[in-house]
Amino acid sequence: MKISQNFTKTSKTAPADEQSESAKLLLRAGYIYKEMAGVYDYLPLGMRTLENIIQIIREEMNAIGGQELRMTALQPRDVWEASGRWSDDVMDVWFKTKLNAGGELGLGCTHEEPLTRLMKSYISSYKDLPVYAYQFQTKFRNELRAKSGIMRTREFMMKDLYSFSKNREEHDEFYEKCAESYKKIFNRLGIGNDTFRTFASGGAFSKYSDEFQTLTDVGEDIIYLDREKGIAVNEEVYTDEVLKELGLDRNKLEQHKAAEVGNIFTLGYRYSEALDLTYNDEDGNRRKVFMGSYGIGPSRVMGVIAEKLSDEKGLVWPEEIAPYKYYVVGIGTEGTKVANDLHDKAPEQIILDDRDKARIGEKFADADLLGIPYRVVISDKTLADNAVEIKSRTEADTKLLPLEEFTAKLVQK
Ligand code: ATP
Ligand code: MG
Repeated sequence: MKISQNFTKTSKTAPADEQSESAKLLLRAGYIYKEMAGVYDYLPLGMRTLENIIQIIREEMNAIGGQELRMTALQPRDVWEASGRWSDDVMDVWFKTKLNAGGELGLGCTHEEPLTRLMKSYISSYKDLPVYAYQFQTKFRNELRAKSGIMRTREFMMKDLYSFSKNREEHDEFYEKCAESYKKIFNRLGIGNDTFRTFASGGAFSKYSDEFQTLTDVGEDIIYLDREKGIAVNEEVYTDEVLKELGLDRNKLEQHKAAEVGNIFTLGYRYSEALDLTYNDEDGNRRKVFMGSYGIGPSRVMGVIAEKLSDEKGLVWPEEIAPYKYYVVGIGTEGTKVANDLHDKAPEQIILDDRDKARIGEKFADADLLGIPYRVVISDKTLADNAVEIKSRTEADTKLLPLEEFTAKLVQK
């Protein structure tokens, strides 16, 4: 990508009404655009970052047998009435609207009901089970508070997987598999060290649900963490009885603020019963399907990463999710020419700062603000050594890398 051809520009200031530090950086760097409180657009750089996060999650969901689909945001009333969740008293985050043709519809805030109904068309025998279906889909929630930038918005991206199992044993096995998969995902996303499986309130079919909470001062949850065991308890279930049951010692627990980046839940027969999703077992008996749900918020994750890994100069992206890997600046006639050639060779990996009017200091400041993992300078001086000067976003020192070696890195991908 050439900066001269990118329509977004960096800015020294963020909108005055923006309170979240991560959102301020993302706005200033041109990753997102604020439509209104709790509603943001993803600009080209932000979109690439979000897509990289999504791709990591997708690969791990596929690895445990997930099948990707995409459901609609527009939701018919009847299927939610069948489960008792259409009422605003039961579900207080609904956005609803009227159809010109008559009737009412809602904008999906989650997808248990419609997917359960959909599965009635495909699940009828034990041979059809289990099914693990997931999507990346825009959810709408009329959240009361929207002060956390892209970490809590009224329109956001969710990865939601739903499991359909023959029985509890089959469910439990997948549930643990998914919890393991979530650990891999958060490791790959660069927040693994600070993200903990956290016991939270469950439902009729299991005493607890499992949240994945990332330690951060801007988090909205309070958790109690046993660092040695690597597990935590949400304050909502923090009682002597629960600690005893989980074998946790109150004196060893650290209290932290945290943001819920993922959540897995045993749904049991809650929706299969309401919507009559059944199958014939091997003996010909009709049985209810046992369900679970498994969410991750890619856009919230992006906000949490922006919040946690950034520094006073700007964003800092882990390599796997950065929109581009190298921020290349050419200096002098020959340096500019070589920089151009390298960009053309790998335009998906390189941001070329080809602005002739910008000073070098401005270019370096933008490289830092954008959080690109490596800044690369190519000048007549580095070329005299047949090298480029490379600097990691998280280190202060620059070093010379043979031009050939840098070029080989670009070919690798
Ligand atoms: P919270 O407790 O933060 O309100 P939740 O428990 O309602 O979230 P789920 O319904 O389990 O969340 O949604 C799955 C995931 O979607 C969450 O773990 C989170 O990462 C993300 N998410 C939920 N609400 C929002 C939101 N308003 N904005 C951005 N991401 C969200
Ligand atoms: Mg929650």
